[in-house]
Amino acid sequence: MTIEYSNETQKQYEFMEKASGYVAELAKKLGRTPTCHVVTFGCQMNAKDSEKILGILKRIGYEAIESEEADFVLFNTCTVRDNANQRVYGRLGVLNGFKRKNPHMKIALCGCMMQEQEVIDKIRKSYSFVDLIFGTHNIFKFAELVCAVFESKSMIVDIWKDTNEIVEDLPVERKYAFKSGVNIMFGCNNFCSYCIVPYVRGRERSRNPKDIIREIENMVADGVVEVMLLGQNVNSYGKNLEEPVTFSELLKEVEQIEGLKRIRFMTSHPKDLSDELIEVMKHSQKICRHLHLPLQSGSDRILKAMNRRYTKAQYLELVDKIRTAMPDIAITTDIIVGFPGETKEDVLETIDVVKKSGFENAFTFIYSKRTGTPAAAMEDQVPEDIVKENFDLLLKAVQETARNNTGHLEEQIVEVLVEEPNEQDTSMVTGRMSNNTLVHFKGSKDLIGQLVNVRLKTCYGFYYVGEPV
Ligand code: SF4
Repeated sequence: MTIEYSNETQKQYEFMEKASGYVAELAKKLGRTPTCHVVTFGCQMNAKDSEKILGILKRIGYEAIESEEADFVLFNTCTVRDNANQRVYGRLGVLNGFKRKNPHMKIALCGCMMQEQEVIDKIRKSYSFVDLIFGTHNIFKFAELVCAVFESKSMIVDIWKDTNEIVEDLPVERKYAFKSGVNIMFGCNNFCSYCIVPYVRGRERSRNPKDIIREIENMVADGVVEVMLLGQNVNSYGKNLEEPVTFSELLKEVEQIEGLKRIRFMTSHPKDLSDELIEVMKHSQKICRHLHLPLQSGSDRILKAMNRRYTKAQYLELVDKIRTAMPDIAITTDIIVGFPGETKEDVLETIDVVKKSGFENAFTFIYSKRTGTPAAAMEDQVPEDIVKENFDLLLKAVQETARNNTGHLEEQIVEVLVEEPNEQDTSMVTGRMSNNTLVHFKGSKDLIGQLVNVRLKTCYGFYYVGEPV
């Protein structure tokens, strides 16, 4: 079947041809194949963007290596918390050292952090050795920007405020042969008051279901058995399409793809997780028995200030509905501690939800002030020592709850997707159950990418050790 490329896709392949010429010239000069290295900070959306960037770098002639001492290094940045920014500035200094030794080296920065004007100003002023800066909205233009870098002596900066553009069919270099993330939409319209994402990832726009299905079919033909459907809030999928499609309808279509064994998705916002979605999950043979359902806080007062648009009672009712429909499901969550104005009573409300929801795991974060978000301007920023105290209290409750909720699967036989060799013991491999729990068991590397049956023997909190059957 011949694919009809959009004009923009066609144009970008022409720029890849042109960039290949520059890289070939560099190879002649160096007397070897030029190398590249892509560093990804942050979430799975960023990891997916990095696979696209690496796909283009390889297509134009670079060879990917593990070291940052490469001829082309790109940092795909995150800005969800301040420490992510600080890490990038720290690592840039090291790159400058490498560039002093290899003046032909190219350094590029992209991702969410680059959508902040103060960051661009700081890099222009203090990190002028950087060759290219672009954002989250024009990743598809990467080949065109690489050409500009080869043609110019000064720093190229190309940041877009927003876009409606979705460019398909560009090269992708997947990290895993057997599983892959699949963007189904970009951006977020929820504007939770602490979150910078809507300002750096723009307004929600969904990919055409036909393009998503075609991408997954190609992946399955290429050996993928599990996909992770990605969106800041997948529940909003399809709303901006000419012919709107709901997320549940998309899931039903993905389920039809032959050869695909497992479907995962994230993230589902509790405010609009529909009964239809619960029904589709319940009756599915392929949708994994794991749901990540960010709570953030259990206090109605804080949830209101966060602009989360659900209450403690509504969240608990939703969890109850999901567990009743799928008793074998694992529910995990995200919780922020230290949101402005948060009191001990608020934290106790959150702990109450943790206990009543019985989370199999929870990712707990300390609130990070993000310039430009409503919460950053709020009074009553909570003192660090209080935040630390509350954080420890919550963590203890999360671990106790998780411990009480795992271990009940011992001696059961479950299907595990083998993902990698075990880090501690080379005679073992590591994989994930449908509910996303890790399992380690004796096996050779040949099993990687395969679904195998394992008898779970012992639970060690967040993982099991088992034996193949
Ligand atoms: S749903 Fe809220 S927390 Fe999630 S990306 Fe959107 S604004 Fe941020």
